[in-house]
Amino acid sequence: MKADYHIHSEFSDDSFEAVEDQINKAISLKFNEICFCDHVDYGIKKDWSEGNIEYRDGDGISNDNNMKEPLANVDYPRYFEKLNLMKEEYKDKIIIKKGLEFGIQRHTIDKYERLFKEYENELDFVLLSVHQIDDKELWNQEFQKDKSQKEYHERYYQEIYETMNQYKNYCVLAHLDLISRYDLKEYPFENNKKIITEILKQAIQDDKGIEINTSSYHYKLKDTTPSMDILKLYHDLGGKIITIGSDAHSTKYLGDHYDDARKILKDIGFKYICTFDKMTPIFHNL
Ligand SMILES: [Zn+2]
Ligand SMILES: [Zn+2]
Repeated sequence: MKADYHIHSEFSDDSFEAVEDQINKAISLKFNEICFCDHVDYGIKKDWSEGNIEYRDGDGISNDNNMKEPLANVDYPRYFEKLNLMKEEYKDKIIIKKGLEFGIQRHTIDKYERLFKEYENELDFVLLSVHQIDDKELWNQEFQKDKSQKEYHERYYQEIYETMNQYKNYCVLAHLDLISRYDLKEYPFENNKKIITEILKQAIQDDKGIEINTSSYHYKLKDTTPSMDILKLYHDLGGKIITIGSDAHSTKYLGDHYDDARKILKDIGFKYICTFDKMTPIFHNL
């Protein structure tokens, strides 16, 4: 099984890649299955149905065209209509799954509960991410600024822990140490180990998983995402549900370093990778 479980398309504010182009790239790389996980970030982005959408500059990395990005979530009806069409059209070539990436904050949980309820019958997969805290973005240092490194690390993991304890309609914790992606200097794993252990134990108890996010290569990070320490800890705690995702916002990075990720997981001792159907994990030998 070769499955990229974290792909973005033009339905995300920060991607301009056509759904078909992502699918064709995946077919050319001989993927058996892909899952689209376009962005929803309540608190800072509006739904298209609300109107008056504002635009902003991107990070120049996920969207390396430097196009202005709409501060808007997925246009849900169009998104699911498109993916249902593509599923049918490409059914002999590749399995296409329908996911969303929920960028949750403690104060936006209600909105995700409502959204999930509305589209529960469409969704195969939901990533739980923390991209913002107190409506402040991590990627542009808005959240980190005026905090010590210790403060922003602690607050970040606390936000994940509290969110995952209140919100259960998800499958996998995405890029669990995202705070490190945007860190300007290293921070010792030992300092976060206690809270990360609690997060992983809670995920295991809730039958949720984590992903290995291969965008670490593209961001030129020294470590994997999440770090090797976290991957090993998850395995040691008995974690079995894990997906591999490129987090590709363009065809260029689809499936990026997939085989490296698979080898890393195998070497740690994981036996399976997961795909999902209607929010339920399916285990495949690694
Ligand atoms: Zn993300
Ligand atoms: Zn993503």
